[in-house]
Amino acid sequence: MPESSEAHPFLQASERGERTPQSVLRRVFGYDSFRGTQGDVIDALVAGHDCLVLMPTGGGKSLCFQIPALLRNGTGLVVSPLIALMADQVATLRELGVRAEILNSTLTAAEQSDVEERVRNGQVDLVYMAPERLSQSRTRHLLREWNLSLIAIDEAHCVSQWGHDFRPEYRELRWLAETLDAPLCALTATADVPTREDIEEGLGLRDPRRFVSSFDRPNIRYRVAERSGREQLLRFIRDGFSDEAGIVYCLSRASVDSTAQWLEEKGVVAVPYHAGLPANVREANQKRFLDDDGVVVVATIAFGMGIDKPNVRFVAHMDIPGSIEAYYQETGRAGRDGLPAQAMMFYGLADVVKRRDMLESSSAPEDRKRLERQKLEALLGFCELADCRRQTLLAYFGEVMHEPCNNCDNCLSPPETWNATVEVQQALSAIYRTDQRFGVGYLCDILRGSETARIKDNGHHRLNVFGKGARMSLNQWRAVFRQLLALGIVQADSDRYGALRLTEKCRPYLRGDKEVWIKKVRAASRKKASKRSAVDLGEDRQPLFEALRARRRELAQQAGVPPYVIFSDATLVAMVAEHPVDREGMRSIPGVGEVKLEKYADTFLEILDQWLPA
Ligand code: ADP
Ligand code: ZN
Repeated sequence: MPESSEAHPFLQASERGERTPQSVLRRVFGYDSFRGTQGDVIDALVAGHDCLVLMPTGGGKSLCFQIPALLRNGTGLVVSPLIALMADQVATLRELGVRAEILNSTLTAAEQSDVEERVRNGQVDLVYMAPERLSQSRTRHLLREWNLSLIAIDEAHCVSQWGHDFRPEYRELRWLAETLDAPLCALTATADVPTREDIEEGLGLRDPRRFVSSFDRPNIRYRVAERSGREQLLRFIRDGFSDEAGIVYCLSRASVDSTAQWLEEKGVVAVPYHAGLPANVREANQKRFLDDDGVVVVATIAFGMGIDKPNVRFVAHMDIPGSIEAYYQETGRAGRDGLPAQAMMFYGLADVVKRRDMLESSSAPEDRKRLERQKLEALLGFCELADCRRQTLLAYFGEVMHEPCNNCDNCLSPPETWNATVEVQQALSAIYRTDQRFGVGYLCDILRGSETARIKDNGHHRLNVFGKGARMSLNQWRAVFRQLLALGIVQADSDRYGALRLTEKCRPYLRGDKEVWIKKVRAASRKKASKRSAVDLGEDRQPLFEALRARRRELAQQAGVPPYVIFSDATLVAMVAEHPVDREGMRSIPGVGEVKLEKYADTFLEILDQWLPA
């Protein structure tokens, strides 16, 4: 990375008093207004208060500390756990003309002391560091010497022992608040209250101002469908996302490999990513995903933490995740740029058995397993839902959303439901009468009255429930069993190949005291998606967008940075929509600050010019 020694022209020329959060937002970052709590967080930090900032992914956490760092005297210290993410943020800042540096082990000793020297001389606006570095006494010594404008701790939930991202190094960060005067800002996209308390306590925040945003991601469309096969995935990608970046999550490494290969054969640019691949292959695949516009990465959950790519247009799950939290986090990697994105989950009964298997065979203590079981059930409930998915998702995080969202599958085409109370009784009875020893397939055969050899051997064709449900299709019966699993009325026993067992919750259902309504099984709709691309520019303007993207790619390659560091998709979309014809027009495009205007306006105007209607 080339170093950046000159201060931003606006910051150089202006007196401190002229610099306001608003003017820095406009002239450095090229945006007109703050989003959500950004403005308030910035004011609090500028005034010197510690802050706790909870904001969903893509909400705009970075500006919250970047702008105060430019407004206050000294250098802003940013603690971030992921090297790739730091490199991205630093590259993005430098493109904007901000003097940002990383201090980590990828630098030579000479480079490190050079950065240290420039921080000491006040020539650096923001310096990024990994948490482990802060426990070294040498670093601590430096920090006491430096003039720090503020300290930002990103991914602050890593301090919580109960979270899934716990990092012991984060515990050591308490030293910062105990020793240094600079205001401290802890940021996270993790929503729950216990984590919040852990952060304040663990980092030793001093009388913090708290800023809690809604965790809704309105631009993500949530969809869930029963899985029938890989063709569904292909259709999903072809119908809305050809040449777009996306992530496909699979549960096992084997299915990652085979799915990626299969997609490639079908003409989708896809790369695999999982912990079993050699490090160099993994890195190369990740780099391709980050640097190209239209690559699909097929991955296990090993992929994602630290992926900052803003223009991921879809996240597809080929297997269900382990919990609603995991689902929220994984789908949250779509649409960081605020443009429309989709979260598509394909699921089936087999997932439940697989997940349970993983859970039961783990060495976790029993109370932990019970918790995990509940989480899995909550997720199944979410899958089977007939109401607004966003309302349920947010309710899970304690947020009330008063109206249905109109941007999830259930809102957009409300499913019909039918009263399955009697069928549920029949299914439960079939499980009970067969001594809770059989899986869904066998039970469906009994209910539908198939006289298979196995059923006859077991004498189950003489059961009272045999053939009681012959009028219903196999798919309908499977839906009934999925619902039973989702409600936690039955459990799939992985030790016995998915045999279904009744739980203590089953009684009122067995008696028919509690009604159950189930979504009607819909024939897979062959309705063509109405728009070709996720970002709907209209047929005639799509080629212009592609031309702008191509230019962006060239520039990114020259500069050795990912394309979104040059301009975000949102900025290109605005160029297409506004069609500026001169620098003045370009200046009003969101994301075009002064330095980028100087550097890139002309080359993009050239392309826009070619597309002017005659
Ligand atoms: P987070 O860290 O919360 O996931 P980022 O800080 O990466 O989010 O911001 C997400 C995207 O939103 C970035 O592309 C950023 O430039 C953009 N953004 C942030 N604040 C604003 C704003 N006030 N106006 C327009 N775009 C913004
Ligand atoms: Zn909805």
